Amino acid sequence: MVDHNELAHNNTYDLLPIFYVDKLVVCRDCGAEEVWTAEQQKWWYEVAKGNINSRAVKCRGCRKEDKERKALARKVHLNGIAQKEQRKKT
Ligand SMILES: [Zn+2]
Repeated sequence: MVDHNELAHNNTYDLLPIFYVDKLVVCRDCGAEEVWTAEQQKWWYEVAKGNINSRAVKCRGCRKEDKERKALARKVHLNGIAQKEQRKKT
């Protein structure tokens, strides 16, 4: 069951689904097919407050890769700042 009280965007109330149903998601990056379960959708919309118009577009593997890439980029960025600070001191 969809808990409409928990949805972030209830101005589209009329268009909201009554039940979440498992959806087949084709990954935008690698083309892998993955089932986005009703349970995961409920979590995304009601707990994570994801936009009702947004949906999973990547498989779990690619999402994980994205996360790791972002974390790495952040690390490199922070290291760069640290090095600049050090150069200023010397
Ligand atoms: Zn993928």
